[in-house]
Amino acid sequence: MSPDSGFDVLVIGAGHNALVAAAYLARAGLRVAQCERRDVVGGAAVTEELAPGFRVSTASYALSMLRPDVYRDLELERHGLVAVPKDPQMFVPLPDGRSFFVWRDTARTKAEIEKIHAPDAEGYDRWCAFWDEATPPLRALLDDPDPLDPVDHLPSDLYARCIVGSAAELVESFFESPEVQGAFASQGIIGTNASGRDPGTAWVLAYHACGGEIYGADGTWGFARGGMGSVSKAIAAAGAEAGVKLFRGTAATEIVIENGRAVGARMSNGMVVRASYVVSGADPRTTFIDLVPDGALDVAFIERVRAWKTEGCVLKVNMALRELPDFIARPGRGPQHHGTVEISPSIDYLDTAYREAQEGTHSSKPYMEVFIQSVLDRSLVDGEGHVVSAFTQYVSPDLVETDEALDAVIDVLSSYAPNVRDNIIAAQALGPHQLQGRFGLPGGDIFHGSLLPEQSFDKRFDYRTPLPGLYLCGSGARPGGCVMGAAGRNAAHAVIDDLGHR
Ligand SMILES: Cc1cc2nc3c(=O)[nH]c(=O)nc-3n(C[C@H](O)[C@H](O)[C@H](O)COP(=O)(O)OP(=O)(O)OC[C@H]3O[C@@H](n4cnc5c(N)ncnc54)[C@H](O)[C@@H]3O)c2cc1C
Repeated sequence: MSPDSGFDVLVIGAGHNALVAAAYLARAGLRVAQCERRDVVGGAAVTEELAPGFRVSTASYALSMLRPDVYRDLELERHGLVAVPKDPQMFVPLPDGRSFFVWRDTARTKAEIEKIHAPDAEGYDRWCAFWDEATPPLRALLDDPDPLDPVDHLPSDLYARCIVGSAAELVESFFESPEVQGAFASQGIIGTNASGRDPGTAWVLAYHACGGEIYGADGTWGFARGGMGSVSKAIAAAGAEAGVKLFRGTAATEIVIENGRAVGARMSNGMVVRASYVVSGADPRTTFIDLVPDGALDVAFIERVRAWKTEGCVLKVNMALRELPDFIARPGRGPQHHGTVEISPSIDYLDTAYREAQEGTHSSKPYMEVFIQSVLDRSLVDGEGHVVSAFTQYVSPDLVETDEALDAVIDVLSSYAPNVRDNIIAAQALGPHQLQGRFGLPGGDIFHGSLLPEQSFDKRFDYRTPLPGLYLCGSGARPGGCVMGAAGRNAAHAVIDDLGHR
């Protein structure tokens, strides 16, 4: 990359969204340079070595939200992405030794739920019918590059239940038993430093129900063969094929402005890369406060960026195990190892976990979603053993030292599968502090900013920024976080549209 390389676009960062933006821009015929501060591309969608011979999806671990047009347009299947739906979607072990599965098949799931609480089987029919109707308008909001306040776009009942309500209220209107409620309410707290009883968590739940199109089945979650890094690799391959010049291990340190317009960026090696447009996949705070020079943006906008809520509350635990967890609720090997193991026995359990972390450092009984991908995908392990990804909550946003929080996670998991603790070969615990250091996630917030309604829709950052020539393509922009590629796609479209107008 030479100082006068004269690119049309410089993309800062190579998280999956920035990779999507770069690929779309290059496929539109633009000369695109891209710089990533890490040596590995993908941001929070990466597969990395945990211990010799064990590879794991270090941060994100499940795939559903990837926009189907991104999947199609960038020919991700041809570029090596193999996305596999999970079946069962969930295995829910309970503390008293009972358990149930949530299968892709409704009748099978109803039979499972009936064993827990018969009336909830009928509730499950209503739950499925509700989402069949709710998802299309919610999805339209997600995909709209310029969404207005959803109060103007949704029927009032849907707005009340799926946007401003709580995950608890929504789930309790379908299910009676604490066990079934707990399993379905947990999606409302993902990455969110709030209780499932707090207003707005219904939107976090609904957001996570809007995907599944790549599997041809609404709301379905699956995994990427080879781990989440293979999603990023496939997108990067699409970009490379279209001519994107990608530079790893190269951080942007300052956006260069001339005559009030972003015209490139200075790199960590001192070089300046010039381009007609700069597209940042870094989070809003890094982009507008660390990279844009002081005084280039007006005070009110900077205040908005400073007030942007980024509160990490997740402890991601990755483990290499000698043997599979042997669940008390379902001993031996079987489908209990194929889906997400959901440890969320009631809404009260989630609420207690939240309150405890607010008053201290971490929940003693954390919520967790555990996935043991190596059961179905042996490409992650050389030889024997398994890799376990445990997405857990809550920890305090201020947590730095993770040993005790990790211990609590292992304790809880071992209370359901007692052989876990003695079979650990290696364990890694990434709290807010580590997620920020490793991936640059602001405050360890997994979504570049909470997904609660006060930071979604028209309240989330626009792709076009107040600084001419600078665009935002990461998940701090609309519609928000998750491995979906929507922000990257929409930011690229904004640049292409603006080019057309110039
Ligand atoms: C623990 C965890 C679990 C998750 N689980 C899931 C899940 O299962 N499914 C799901 O869909 N989503 C999940 N998510 C959320 C999802 O991973 C993120 O929302 C998404 O990956 C963000 O992508 P992005 O491209 O917007 O940003 P990022 O992935 O944050 O990428 C930003 C990139 O920019 C780079 N960068 C920053 N500053 C600079 C600079 N100055 N110069 C150069 N490069 C820079 C960073 O290094 C990074 O690579 C999870 C996230 C975490 C952390």
